[in-house]
Amino acid sequence: MIAQKTVQEIIDAARIEEVVDDFVNLKRRGSNLIGNCPFHNEKTPSFIVSPAKNFFKCFGCGKGGTPVHFIMEHESMTFPEALRYLAKKYHIPIQEIEMTPEFQVEQQLHESLYILNTFANQYFIQQLNETAEGKSIGLSYFSERGFSKLTIDKFGLGYAPNIPDQFTKYAVENHYNIELLRKLGLTTVNDLDFFRNRVMFPIHGMSGKIVAFAGRIMSTTTKAPKYINSPETDIYVKNKVLYGLYQARTAIRKQDECFLVEGYTDVISLHQNGIENVVASSGTSLTIGQIKLIKRYTQNVVILYDGDAAGIKSGFERFRYVLGGRYGRQNGALARWR
Ligand SMILES: [Zn+2]
Repeated sequence: MIAQKTVQEIIDAARIEEVVDDFVNLKRRGSNLIGNCPFHNEKTPSFIVSPAKNFFKCFGCGKGGTPVHFIMEHESMTFPEALRYLAKKYHIPIQEIEMTPEFQVEQQLHESLYILNTFANQYFIQQLNETAEGKSIGLSYFSERGFSKLTIDKFGLGYAPNIPDQFTKYAVENHYNIELLRKLGLTTVNDLDFFRNRVMFPIHGMSGKIVAFAGRIMSTTTKAPKYINSPETDIYVKNKVLYGLYQARTAIRKQDECFLVEGYTDVISLHQNGIENVVASSGTSLTIGQIKLIKRYTQNVVILYDGDAAGIKSGFERFRYVLGGRYGRQNGALARWR
């Protein structure tokens, strides 16, 4: 069978407009494309392709779906066959694996970790929006940064209260496994909450699932580090994750350019100001793995690091090495966008 990693890579790479265009003559109409439906006979086009939603829909016969669905339907293929077709189209090497019992257990563990992260995120969001502490500390911090309610929701921002073990207790009460809580780094070895008195930024993987969290300290008196991150886990490999890429990928492809900034809040500020093709390499210095992620969407990267010349230089050289395309830097240029 095809490795889950490859499946995800194919799903991430396949663009509906490119996949359909191989079979249907499409014309642009506003932000969508329109053509004659290949699944029923028609003279007036009612077959719509939405690049933004990565989805097709026929208003004549009702058929609709993802790029994979389109190929399954059009080419009468099974799901794995359609994946192999798309892998070929997008030059994605297929990693094959045997479905061993160990593998099934591993998949189930990964699923449990995602579910628990989602639960934690819902808790942080609820703490931010519905508690006095969350509102007065977390929400006011975000509004000082100029973040709108829409932006806060879009990025799933939250708040971890300054209570030693409230989250851990709440999770255990809801029948979540303490071992998994520790594994994800949400709970310390002493069964305390890892994130306390911090505004919370969930970090999404390429499938949109939450792989980790970053928390920014709110207290000005403690000596704790300003930002802390979830530890590396089976679902979170730091050098293969870019903050904001999940939200930015469509814009990056559309504009054929990616801005790289330093911090979580830089990504969010730019997004709110209409610049959505922006990601951050927070938590690590820029890695080859991260550059490869960007390269799936564009060859063109503009680095907007402010300050640290060494950081810019090392990041810059790696870009040239891997991307080979147009590249540039605008030292301190973030100020211009704000
Ligand atoms: Zn149709």
